[in-house]
Order: sequence, then structure tokens, then C-alpha cells
Amino acid sequence: APAFHGPAAWVIVGGLLALVATLRWLHDEGLREAGNAHAHMIDVMFHDTLTHLPNRHAFVGTLEALGGKAAPARAVLRIDLEQFSLLNDTLGRAAGDDVLKAVARELQSEVSAPKQVARAGADDFLVLLTGEGALDAEAVAAGIVARLETRRTVGERAVHLTAHVGVATTSPGEDAGAETLLQRADQALLLAKKAGRRRIATLRTAASENPTERAFEIAQSLHTATDRGEISNVYQPILDLRTGRIVKAEALARWTHPRLGAVGPGEFIPVAEATGTIHAIGDWVLRTAAAQLVAWRAQGMSDFRVSVNHSPVQFREDDDGTHPCLKVLAEVGAPADGLVVEITEGVILDADAATRRRLTALRATGVRLSLDDFGTGYSSIGALHSFEIDALKIDRRFVHGLARGSKEYVLCDSIIRMAHALGLSVVAEGIETEQQLELLRAMGCDQGQGYFLGRPMQAAALTALLAAQLTSTPT
Ligand code: C2E
Ligand code: MG
Ligand code: MG
Repeated sequence: APAFHGPAAWVIVGGLLALVATLRWLHDEGLREAGNAHAHMIDVMFHDTLTHLPNRHAFVGTLEALGGKAAPARAVLRIDLEQFSLLNDTLGRAAGDDVLKAVARELQSEVSAPKQVARAGADDFLVLLTGEGALDAEAVAAGIVARLETRRTVGERAVHLTAHVGVATTSPGEDAGAETLLQRADQALLLAKKAGRRRIATLRTAASENPTERAFEIAQSLHTATDRGEISNVYQPILDLRTGRIVKAEALARWTHPRLGAVGPGEFIPVAEATGTIHAIGDWVLRTAAAQLVAWRAQGMSDFRVSVNHSPVQFREDDDGTHPCLKVLAEVGAPADGLVVEITEGVILDADAATRRRLTALRATGVRLSLDDFGTGYSSIGALHSFEIDALKIDRRFVHGLARGSKEYVLCDSIIRMAHALGLSVVAEGIETEQQLELLRAMGCDQGQGYFLGRPMQAAALTALLAAQLTSTPT
């Protein structure tokens, strides 16, 4: 009998082929499904299911992968929302979830590449910045604080969040492990919570240094820093944008620690505020700047002014008598109309009747009040209206992204118009390029400050610049 001949044989072969194809399909499908399950598992392991952000595990992984000798500069920001658990308890979990999702979105849009934003715990977010971005970490932190603080509505309720940010940074090639950096960021967050003002604290640590020890050492030795002559002032020129002349200088505190070297004000001012040392430091900075003012005026700069930062903590004093600034001016023999005191929006908002009286009295003597970092805090226009101040300083984050057609352009332009309508003058901070300068000048901004116009410098360097200016421009 013919075994495999004719139509019957073809039916059998066809059947076999179909079977093979089916088996193969089943196999592939099985693999696909296993693959899907695997992908899902990986997703759960490395992502937060609520916000779809990477979780702490994924964040540590990314950070670890960046280590070693060829590592770029890195910064880890740890962000904590102040009243979150209260909000969760009062408005319910669903509302809390919505807020967290919104915060996740806002963080992602606030931070530009290269970056990673992660959610590490309930209301605990992490941001990783690398390379150039890491060098700008404090500006990013300031942007985040401002962004998260915008008033939001949850259900029918208006909700106000406050964020604190701890910043940990490494230099390029510094071999700091992921856990060390995260610990450092935690430490910085604690400092940020203790300090008022910017709600941001930074810890920069050299390779071998223990962050806890550094923070401890800083807090300990800050008490004696002024007595030991470790604090100094640098002065950054402020130019009249119409004439191009240097008309003012902002005194900025510097600390040279005997062992740690230069410690920046972003790191030590929060500690000084938290420990009360700010009074001694603030007094020293003012006294030194006032004496310098006397010298510059004697040099021929008859309408020159110095501007000094005043921490909110320095306002929390009970005594209702003469403002300490006036005592210092009198002791140094400096004219009150040569001093500008820079305060932050927080001071205005928190001001009680006694503070208001003292500020009004201070202003009556000729001392000017300038509102620093305008736009980073609550930016309460009502407070601007009800409080007597002379000038606004537009925060450098608005100047940073300034270009024709940008949001920053609209913001700067509106701030300048509003300030002028209220009779205030405007100083733009952080001018780094000629383009920014030209745009601000065209908007009618009164004064400018920034690396493009002059870096913070020793008093002697500024004296030389002023002398050159005196001989070149007849006044
Ligand atoms: P601030 O009052 O807003 O001072 C301006 C800061 O911007 C200074 O940083 C200055 O060096 C920096 N800066 C100036 N131009 C540019 C620029 O073009 N680009 C960029 N990226 N930055 C620019 P600094 O000296 O590190 O001071 C940081 C902050 O520390 C100050 O911010 C102020 O809030 C605080 N601070 C400094 N000295 C004192 C002080 O004597 N007392 C108090 N209470 N706070 C102080
Ligand atoms: Mg200032
Ligand atoms: Mg400022």
C-alpha cells in the first residue's frame, strides 16, 4: 500500500505543520507573558506606584552607577513637605495622594536634565543633579521651595505647603558612596528645618569627611568665629543701569575655618540662625561694612551706599528700644542714609507690631529697606503695599532664564512695572550675561548686580574700581 502518497498524506503533513505552528505560538506567548510579569516585577521594585517616579531603590542604583574616580559633580536634594501628615489626616488619603502626585509633577518640571526625581517615602522626595546641574544645586533648591509653596486647592480647601530642602554635594571625582550622600542630605535637611530664612541648607564635604562631624564642628566653632577673626566681608558691586556707575555694594559674609577652609554662607548662615550666633556675626558684618562705607565716602563717593543682609532671626528680639543697627552706625560714625538693610519676605509676613515700629523708626533715620530674593517666598503683594520698603531685589532665578519670549521675561517685566507703580526701585540680582543686562535695562530696571557686572571682591579691590570710576566720570 502506498504509504505517504496522495491527499491523505498531505492532510497529515499539513496537520503536523499546524501543530508545530500552534506549539510555537503557545511557547512565544508564554515567554511574552513571563516577560510581562518580569517587567511588571521590575516596575514594582523600582517605581513608586502612586506617582510613577523611581523609588529610593532605583535612586540609589543610579547614584551608585555614577561613582568612582571619573564621577561627575553630584548633588542630592532631599525634599520634605512640612504639613503633609496633617493634611493627610484632615483632608483624607485621597486628597493627600492628589497632592503627592501634583508635587511629583512639579518637581519633574522644575528640575531640568540631567536629573532624576524619586519618591523615597510618604512625603519624602529626592532629586539627583549631575555635572553642571550639580553646581547650581542651591538655585534648583530655591526654585523647588518657591514652586511647591504656591497656594493650591484640594477639594474645596485652600492648602499651603512648605518645603524644606537638604542639599548634599560632591566635587567631580569625589568617591562618595550613595549612602554617604543620602546621609549628608538628611543632615542638611535637619539644618534646613532648624533655620528660618531660605529653608535650604547645604553640606559640601571632602572625600574623607564624616558629614555629622563636619556639621558638629561647624556648629561648635561658629561661636568663636567672629572673636577669632575668621569672618570677613566681601563686597559685590551694584550698578546704576542707566549710568553704568557703581553706586552700592552688598556686603557678603565669608568664613575661613582653620581646618575646613572656606565655608560658604549657604552652609553657615542657617547654622548661625539656628544657634543664635547670627547676632554676633550680623553685628560684625554690619560694623565692618559701616566702617568701610565711611572710607568709601571719604574717598569721594559721596552718595555711595552699602547693603547688608539681615536675618529674620535678628528681628526676633523683644526689646522695643533703639534698633541695634542705629547703635552700630553711631559707634562707627557712619551716616544712616548710606545703609541699606536687606530683609526677606518672611520678615514682613511675620512682623509683629514691635518689629514694625522698629523698622519704621529705622527708616525714619534714613536707612533704606530692601526686599531680598523677591519672588522666592510668598511674594505677598498685600505685604508690599502695607509695608514701607524702598527697593525690591528680583531673585536671580528669574534673571537666570531671562530671554525674549520667556516666562522669566514676563515675570521680570511685571515685577519692575509693579514696583515702579508702587514707588519702589528695583535691583536685579544674578546678572551673568550681556543679554540679561540689556533686557533688564530695556525694561527700566534701576540697578543690577551679578557676575557679569562684578563678582563679590575684597574691599581693596572695590576701592580700586571706585577710584578708577571717580577719575573717568566727572560728577
Ligand atoms: P543674597 O543676599 O541673595 O546674596 C546674593 C548671593 O548671590 C551671593 O551669594 C552672591 O555671591 C551670589 N551672586 C551674585 N551674583 C551672582 C551671579 O551672577 N550668579 C550667581 N549664580 N550668583 C550670584 P553668597 O555670597 O554665597 O551668599 C548667599 C546668601 O547667604 C545670601 O544671598 C544671603 O542670603 C546669605 N548671606 C550672606 N552674607 C550674609 C550675612 O552677612 N548675613 C546674613 N543674614 N545672610 C548672609
Ligand atoms: Mg542679599
Ligand atoms: Mg538675594
